[in-house]
Amino acid sequence: MITRILNEGSVKELWRMLKSCRHIVITCHVKPDGDAIGSSLGLYHVLSALGKDVRVVTPDMPPRNLLFLPGAKDIVVATRYEEFARKLFADADLVFCLDFNAPYRVDRMQRMLLDSVAPKVMIDHHLSPDPFTNLTFSHPEVSSTSMLVFRLVCRLELFQLIDKNAAKCIYTGMMTDTGNFSYNSNDPDLYIVIAELLRKGIDKDEIYRRVFNTNSASRLRLNGYAIYRKMIIFPEHRAALITLDARELDEFGYEKGDTESLVNVPLSIPEITYCAFMRQDPGYIKVSTRSKGSFPVNRLCEEHFNGGGHLNAAGGEFKGTMQECVDRFISVLPDYDKYL
Ligand code: 5GP
Ligand code: MN
Repeated sequence: MITRILNEGSVKELWRMLKSCRHIVITCHVKPDGDAIGSSLGLYHVLSALGKDVRVVTPDMPPRNLLFLPGAKDIVVATRYEEFARKLFADADLVFCLDFNAPYRVDRMQRMLLDSVAPKVMIDHHLSPDPFTNLTFSHPEVSSTSMLVFRLVCRLELFQLIDKNAAKCIYTGMMTDTGNFSYNSNDPDLYIVIAELLRKGIDKDEIYRRVFNTNSASRLRLNGYAIYRKMIIFPEHRAALITLDARELDEFGYEKGDTESLVNVPLSIPEITYCAFMRQDPGYIKVSTRSKGSFPVNRLCEEHFNGGGHLNAAGGEFKGTMQECVDRFISVLPDYDKYL
């Protein structure tokens, strides 16, 4: 059996909410990743099996490599169907907020989320949750929201409603938020849950291939170029930086998701403790950071890049030119030597 971490009173309260509701909206953060989509769709399958009318509404399009997940085609994408999304929030009598800790993380959907009078339930593992939900399951010590969804479903005594489809989605989130169980992955319970999901019939090797082995030639070339030509090492600060500006992205026919794992690459150098990847998106520079051990990249992103996140994986946005963004990074490097 896995350990109990969820508050008994909160679980009971959620059960009361579930019993009395019919129309449920599940939503997650903008630029949804494997955990955001995996946890949302996992919960969607379970609650649908419970007889509820459930919709997953995302602020923008999920990445292509997640569209194989069962239920992905039924996701209501707010950038495409804004009015429909608004109506779903307005008509909902329960809203789940998955894998995010503050309303601004749903981007342009913030208004419809906050305007909804439905009770809101947060299931999340980011630090410092904003108190905007009626019920909060916030567990930063858990490696993925998908794992939390599994735990919650079990505590609601709905384990039997997890079918192969739900299991596939939950596994995907657990896998992506731990880099295929290569970080944040020493919790023994993870492997008990994986065993249970395998018993539900999932093919974890196939899920890995679908999610991670989906390269195109141009994607490989873009990543090769970024590592070969654009990686700067700052040995005295144990740091690395990779940047790609709009012209470079264009040259390699960049498509969303093409640079997904690039930020992790410099960390494979033993002498590197943390690294940043900066990509020039329309309107701002997207900053992604990763670190090893106790180095707090969330602090770096909060203090300088208008963002936040986890200790070892964080991100933010910088308004300005790529050069200004790079200059900012370089100028603050010495301030973070104390965490090395
Ligand atoms: P990624 O580098 O994969 O985009 O993001 C890694 C983590 O950093 C995410 O799971 C999220 O917690 C956090 N993150 C990324 N971008 C932002 C941002 O713009 N603002 C905040 N607060 N967190 C972010
Ligand atoms: Mn997550």
